[in-house]
Amino acid sequence: MASARSFHLFGRAADASNVPMLLVDVLAPDHPIVHCNNAFCAFTGYSAGEVLGRNCHFLQGEDLQQPGCRQVAEAIDEGRQTRIVMRNYKRDGTMFYNELSVAPMTDETGRITHYFGVLRDISEQIAIEEQLRELASTDPLTGLLNRRRFEGLVNQEILRSHRYSRPMVALMLDLDLFKRINDAHGHACGDAVLVNFAATIARGLRVHDVCARIGGEEFAAMLPETPIAAGLEVAERLRRSVEAMRTPWVGHEIAVTTSIGITQLTDWDQGYGMLIERADAALYASKQRGRNRVTVA
Ligand code: GH3
Ligand code: MG
Ligand code: MG
Repeated sequence: MASARSFHLFGRAADASNVPMLLVDVLAPDHPIVHCNNAFCAFTGYSAGEVLGRNCHFLQGEDLQQPGCRQVAEAIDEGRQTRIVMRNYKRDGTMFYNELSVAPMTDETGRITHYFGVLRDISEQIAIEEQLRELASTDPLTGLLNRRRFEGLVNQEILRSHRYSRPMVALMLDLDLFKRINDAHGHACGDAVLVNFAATIARGLRVHDVCARIGGEEFAAMLPETPIAAGLEVAERLRRSVEAMRTPWVGHEIAVTTSIGITQLTDWDQGYGMLIERADAALYASKQRGRNRVTVA
């Protein structure tokens, strides 16, 4: 057991630390904060006078429906320590992700009298994780989903479509003679066309449809709950939109066309590969038949 002197010294150490800390009295009604260190005030913008005597809830602002609040309350009820992440707010309203560690403190009889809380701002880490997640699932040039993410979503939708006997359609789109654009105007121009093409496809679909960049100048779309006749209309509309599309490029207006292959989900399709292979074969047939057209497989 620490002596009163070392206990006092430890309080001063908390004040000297640059880690925000709080001490909560769990014997008093509503568990008021009885101590906060200088780092807590510097970080949150609250003065000690504004904090002492209040329950920690004020750190959550209006954002009270968080699982973390219940987890902390449960840990305190059960007299154990815990570590949770929650959204908290500084005095000026700035949100931060707080990785909060709380631990019970006992008196000489073993009774829990206080809880000690240590705050860690992990907002930057969470932002990086979000960016990584986004990078892992989207194509950096066009912002559309990448093939990996598309494949996952298509596989999920195939299972749902089979289970509920719903029709579903897959499209493959490839720009016609795209190499010529790169050759004539340079790669940057080709990139601008790809970005415009992606936006044109995305605009032409409904919210529940999904489109993705599958490879260089190859794109794909999946239309859930769509019979083939309706899918064909969509494909034909996309083809016309691309035909009408003009990408401005240093004094030029670049025009392109697209070949499209379309297929519907069949009873024997077990996954992405089988469905997309057929759409791809239909796309190839569109190329063979002279490009700028839609073929059904
Ligand atoms: P086809 O009508 O038969 O599809 O002819 P194509 O010229 O479009 O087909 P091909 O496969 O011969 O060429 C595709 C070109 O797409 C070659 C490649 O340089 C270009 N490409 C692939 N990815 C990118 C990219 O990210 N940016 C640019 N600018 N070009 C790309
Ligand atoms: Mg092409
Ligand atoms: Mg291609």
